[in-house]
Amino acid sequence: MASLYRMNIQQLDKIGPKKAEQFEKLGIDSVGSLLRYYPRDYEDWSKPYTIAEAPINETCCVRARIESASPPARIRGNMVIYKLVASDGNDCMTVTLFNQGFLYDRLSQGGEYLFYGAVKRGRNGFEMASPKIDPVSCECIRPIYSHTSSLSGKQIENAVRQAAALLPKEFNDPIPHDIRTEYGLCDLGFAIKNIHFPENIQALKDARKRLVFEELLILQLCIGMRSNGIKECHGYRIEKDYTDEFLRQLPFKPTNAQLRVIDECVSDMQKPSYQLHRLIQGDVGSGKTAVAAAVCYTAAKNGLQCAFMAPTEILAEQHFFSLTELFSRSGLKIELLTGSTRASEKKRILSQLLTGNIDILIGTHALLSDNVIFNKLGLVITDEQHRFGVAQRAALSAKGNSPHMIIMSATPIPRTLAIILFGDLDLSIIDELPPGRQKTETYLVDSSKRERIYRFILKHINEKKQCYIVCPLVEQGESALFSAEEYYTRLKNSILKDCRIAVLHGKMNPAEKESVMESFSSGETDILIATTVIEVGVNVPNAVIMLIENAERFGLSQLHQLRGRVGRGTERSYCIMVSDNESPATKERLNVLCKSTDGFFIADEDLRLRGPGDLFGTRQHGLPELKIAGFSDMPTLEQTRSAAESILSNDPGLSLPEHKALLFEVRRMLSSDINA
Ligand code: ADP
Ligand code: MG
Repeated sequence: MASLYRMNIQQLDKIGPKKAEQFEKLGIDSVGSLLRYYPRDYEDWSKPYTIAEAPINETCCVRARIESASPPARIRGNMVIYKLVASDGNDCMTVTLFNQGFLYDRLSQGGEYLFYGAVKRGRNGFEMASPKIDPVSCECIRPIYSHTSSLSGKQIENAVRQAAALLPKEFNDPIPHDIRTEYGLCDLGFAIKNIHFPENIQALKDARKRLVFEELLILQLCIGMRSNGIKECHGYRIEKDYTDEFLRQLPFKPTNAQLRVIDECVSDMQKPSYQLHRLIQGDVGSGKTAVAAAVCYTAAKNGLQCAFMAPTEILAEQHFFSLTELFSRSGLKIELLTGSTRASEKKRILSQLLTGNIDILIGTHALLSDNVIFNKLGLVITDEQHRFGVAQRAALSAKGNSPHMIIMSATPIPRTLAIILFGDLDLSIIDELPPGRQKTETYLVDSSKRERIYRFILKHINEKKQCYIVCPLVEQGESALFSAEEYYTRLKNSILKDCRIAVLHGKMNPAEKESVMESFSSGETDILIATTVIEVGVNVPNAVIMLIENAERFGLSQLHQLRGRVGRGTERSYCIMVSDNESPATKERLNVLCKSTDGFFIADEDLRLRGPGDLFGTRQHGLPELKIAGFSDMPTLEQTRSAAESILSNDPGLSLPEHKALLFEVRRMLSSDINA
């Protein structure tokens, strides 16, 4: 199959440079990756029901013959209605089509068809509105692909069909033969064909089982190889614990949980031949920064340089300011390096870094560039790590002589999952919030309440408080949603028009972002309209309202993060989620947030409520994105863990010839991580 990853998809019929570009937006850049673009769902047209047997109100396929058709009826304006009566010999149903003349014209009276839609019981018996209709020769299970506005599901299906025909008869299967036998897995060729175009339900199940296994096996191999690499390393051993000295400079009393975690980290660094390698989990506001600062302090006082990497410039700056203040009496030298650091300044920082005159360097991805060279890098901390991939962390740690590593996770990860996915990291949990924190009151409302919400906001702004409004990222073709800029216009036409309103979004350059953020944190802006750039870490205690538009667009953990931006001071604060989504599942999901403020509970619920196909959220946790495995595949995760262990125990580098195809897939997963 490796050769298909090198085959350009433009070699397929009907795909030119323009179309190829659209495929690329979906991450498809070769015939091979097209075959790995699995359907999001299926429509089962393979076993049509009779009318009476069809489950009422559920979408399904019914086979029936068209008995009669009434002439098209034009009702108001442009709406044309077509009515048909279809019978399966025993029962009849009325089929209504709206404005679908092209479909209607294709049908012939007396002809037998498959109707895909929901059968309902109406006043005059069975009926079905706007079904898909196809000839009876189309009895099969059909793939449904996630598509874009300019690339339809049909076009994707067409391309996949051609690609599947190019699969060689024989090729190396990434999963070794004995493992396939042991776990009862079909071969890759069968799996690929049947995941797209299943022969029947069983074949689809077999295909899915195999592909899920493969994906999780490869994930486990990535993790396993990483952790094998780490076991051989050890960081600089530190002599003395300076935590008490640090705590005397801290303006507040640390919580017991903070003290415990600081101690766990420092003791690791004091062990002989050991590398501190820890995931620190703590709910929003649990005070992870102070913990990181304490560990940095001890490392730096022991003569090691520290790197502290944050996912956004805003956050990096914030850490820089708080650490500078905290360390003002320590004699330690702290610098900030981001993409917008001026060239002359950068030059100075880089040279002082090399000579060891800088103790702590805080920054963004900029820290990863090749010209950032440390004198004695001993500790690397990455904050809000889900924004960084495994590979990026590895790149930073490669700048030192296996430096100690701390990874701080913004979003709690359920413990079961953390242990499996971060098997190579020790886990520290800050399970306590600083005293005196207010619970943020959380509400879910529909857009009919918007005027009321605006009045509520206005009242708080008149009391000199501030407010965040978050809009989802708008992609092309989603006209139903407001972009942040459009929202600004809307507010300027509302009762909030006299407030000082600013917009913050990802497309702005760093300097613009910084000035917007600065004016908000200094209180010169009342309302900050933002996309999720403010999701992580931003700290403006005077902001007491978080209004989230189209809340259904966000994941639970993400919403919890957003909510964490308020309730940072002593004032009562509010999180208001607006959603017009009617689906009970969505409401249940959003209501979890109204009920709980416990990030770990929310993370568990988030995981539980994600349907199969809507993954572990591994992207969030800095692991490669999974394309097929889902929460329901937990048991497989355990199996692949032991399979991966047994493979690596014989062949730690996957260098044996029978593991060639497997190594290829491992590399593919890791590189997708780097490119993301
Ligand atoms: P997070 O864990 O979400 O990164 P931060 O480190 O940003 O949280 O801390 C949130 C706020 O709580 C900061 O303003 C910080 O100064 C404050 N804080 C941290 N620890 C304590 C504590 N033990 N007592 C009081 N305030 C604290
Ligand atoms: Mg933080």
